[in-house]
Amino acid sequence: MAYTPHQQDLLRRLPKMDDLLERLPAEVPHPLKVLVCREAIEAARARIQASPEPDPAVADAAAILEAARRRLARRLRSSLRPVVNATGVVIHTNLGRSLLAPEVLPGLEAVAARYSNLEYNLESGRRGSRYSHVEEILLELTGAEAALVVNNNAAAVLITLETLAKGREVIVSRGELVEIGGSFRIPDVMARSGAILREVGATNRTHLRDYEGAIGEATALLLKVHQSNFQVVGFTASVPVADLKVLANRHGLPVVEDLGSGTLVDFAPYGLVHEPTVQESLAAGADLVTFSGDKLLGGPQAGIILGRRDLVDRIRANPLNRALRIDKLTLAALEGTLRLYRDPAEAARRLPTLRMLTAPAAGLKTRARRLARRLRALELPGLEVRVVETVARVGGGALPLQVLPSAAAALVPAEAGISIARLEAALRRHDPPVVARIEDDRLLFDVRTLLPGDEARIAEALAAAVAGGRPSP
Ligand SMILES: *Cc1c(COP(=O)(O)O)cnc(C)c1O
Repeated sequence: MAYTPHQQDLLRRLPKMDDLLERLPAEVPHPLKVLVCREAIEAARARIQASPEPDPAVADAAAILEAARRRLARRLRSSLRPVVNATGVVIHTNLGRSLLAPEVLPGLEAVAARYSNLEYNLESGRRGSRYSHVEEILLELTGAEAALVVNNNAAAVLITLETLAKGREVIVSRGELVEIGGSFRIPDVMARSGAILREVGATNRTHLRDYEGAIGEATALLLKVHQSNFQVVGFTASVPVADLKVLANRHGLPVVEDLGSGTLVDFAPYGLVHEPTVQESLAAGADLVTFSGDKLLGGPQAGIILGRRDLVDRIRANPLNRALRIDKLTLAALEGTLRLYRDPAEAARRLPTLRMLTAPAAGLKTRARRLARRLRALELPGLEVRVVETVARVGGGALPLQVLPSAAAALVPAEAGISIARLEAALRRHDPPVVARIEDDRLLFDVRTLLPGDEARIAEALAAAVAGGRPSP
């Protein structure tokens, strides 16, 4: 393809790799410097080639060096890094769900950097079980007979069905065929496990007789699934675990409940909707329950399976368990988290997820006022700072109808030409990034999900965003 004389001139003027390389820091590994310089030069070349009359500034050596420096800075920074969650969504799946309590971290660090008794029985000097480190405390806290932990709750449901129902039928209410965040759908997971879905009832109402009518030779188990992310309201009926258990017993079948979030504490005393606890489900007769480690439990990503010893033993022996097994860092974090539950009031104070969920609205209002004062002090041009009442969310599919009265500092445009969307994007791109929520053309910083130090981080990010957003003279 032929280039115009102007294009050819600019292509000739592109800087040489070596001129750029010597201007980048000596301590940066050479191959990385070569990579970013090549990328910067190639990007400039592509822009010159794309237009017959390119802007001469595209070939400017200083500008290309600056582009190489930006690329280098981005690659040297960790890709996975902390952000400020000002969304008010406590169990925010995209922002990492639950935060570990500080009390849990030393145990995590110790086994990460040193050898451990992960699968070594120190009493007998023989091979031990990695599950033993959390099994005892899980039984202590829940009264279950046996426990197994896997990579996440999706894995827990998959391996449970694969072990107990492959090639056979699993009876589920039509009102419980849930989808969680697109990639987890009960019917799809069931198909992957080899179990055959036997839907019963209607979307809004399922009765005991529906389950009864579906039980036959091929039935492997009755499955109950928590209605995560939604609730059916109005003319509804579902069958409690205790009633399913009576029916299942008559046919010698197990009842399995996927609790989804799975909580060990009752939230009702904190003024929240009552979410059935793990202990309640087991006491009602569930032969197995499965739930997540990083939703309402407030621990690391994990899937917890509790219940009858014979069933848990069969799942543990499934070769699939090797593929879904939990890693030692997760085990350390899970053990530390569970230990805090020995005193449930302590758990509510120490575990960030529980502390954020149970924070009283009055205290949040005070914090929002304090944040607003701090932001007003920045004297942001064209923006007014207000304190507003908000509705925060539990997230993670737990307590879908729960409204959490909360408070936020809000930025409201006070002049024409102020773009809240542009401000929101600039805060996301700051380091550390601040993720805020836009509502009615206001930018909200909900204080319910803020951690100590986050107020200062928001103020700093805003000051930088406003300075960077000013039109250059
Ligand atoms: C969240 C959820 C899952 C998936 O749990 P992960 O830990 O995210 O794998 C499964 N079932 C229900 C009902 C859930 O709410």
